[in-house]
Amino acid sequence: MSKAVFSSDFTLGILGGGQLGKMMLYHTRKYDIRTKVMDPNPHAPARLACDEFVVGDIQDAGAVAAFGQDCDLVTLEIEAVSLEGLFRLRQRNIKVYPDDDTLELIVNKSRQKDFYVQHDMPTSAHTNYMDRQSIPTDLHYPVVWKAATGGYDGNGVQILKSDEDRNALPDIPCLIEEAVDIGLELAVIVARSSNGEIKTYPVVEMEFHPTANQVEYVICPARIPDRIAETARAIALDVSDKMKHVGLLAVELFLTKEGKLLINEVAPRPHNSGHYSIEGSFTDQFDQHIRAILGLPLGATSSKVPAVMVNLVGAQDHTGPVRYEGLEDAMQLRGVIPHIYGKKETRPFRKMGHVTIIDEDIDEARHTASKVKKMVRVVSR
Ligand code: ADP
Repeated sequence: MSKAVFSSDFTLGILGGGQLGKMMLYHTRKYDIRTKVMDPNPHAPARLACDEFVVGDIQDAGAVAAFGQDCDLVTLEIEAVSLEGLFRLRQRNIKVYPDDDTLELIVNKSRQKDFYVQHDMPTSAHTNYMDRQSIPTDLHYPVVWKAATGGYDGNGVQILKSDEDRNALPDIPCLIEEAVDIGLELAVIVARSSNGEIKTYPVVEMEFHPTANQVEYVICPARIPDRIAETARAIALDVSDKMKHVGLLAVELFLTKEGKLLINEVAPRPHNSGHYSIEGSFTDQFDQHIRAILGLPLGATSSKVPAVMVNLVGAQDHTGPVRYEGLEDAMQLRGVIPHIYGKKETRPFRKMGHVTIIDEDIDEARHTASKVKKMVRVVSR
């Protein structure tokens, strides 16, 4: 018989010890669930908050299988894990959420886009290529190039404007997408529990850094008409339903300037676009992920208060041991709640923390977020 969840000896294994793992652990403590975390970095943010920390390669099948063998359930906070390792665990009747089938579909952007096309879901037109040579020479620029695998936070994405850009691409499997005329970038987090219960969070607006291809601000709720928000939630629900994942699924969408919604991509885990929920929602996304994978009742997804999140990333010209300049000044502002991930070293654009600003007035919260962004600098000592 499987162990009761609230028994102090139910063990949850988490692959990856970054900030997402760390924030998940606040809730395993709350529920008195035992945790094990594996990460290659001995100083990973999650190391302090888990019961057992294992230094190991999450992309190695043997290491993942060995790590998970005494767990009751294994989850992850990053998609770049060994799928073979997860498969071996499932063969031994250890529950794995999200499982290797879900991940296999998602970690390859070509396969993921093909899935949307096969299921008649709205997404921008794309073509897959095995290598650079196969990309036609008569592209209608601009187009968007994406590495099929391995990209994150925009580093596997390039906007091609000329043959020169095309010729400088790495020679790897990739896809070319039509360049969308983006009005707004939106996200919807869906929670789907192991017993099939599904809930969606409100639609959020993501504002990107102008050059780094990385989310800078997340605004909840998105400042869009209700009709568009309802359609976005319905699309996200449909993706979740068809993917049959367990846990959270963050669905990123484009709202085109013409008012069309297109699916960009999904992530099968807690997501940067949901950090606002820690302070802003009835149930924060990390709690919801734990509830979903354990088959517990899902919590309400409504917001308690409007919220804006701003990422704290490493300043462009700083590498080395980190210092957070101006944080105390920012904390004097109303509704400002910082989260510092605990990474030892800063690098340009590395995600080092985030700040949530809650305010009854969303525009006021957005205004405070800009102030915080200007006040706080993540620099090297
Ligand atoms: P990552 O997985 O690295 O986050 P994404 O596929 O989300 O990469 O792309 C990163 C960003 O690049 C998007 O948020 C968007 O701003 C831009 N982008 C991606 N695809 C397109 C597209 N087809 N047209 C226009 N911009 C795009």
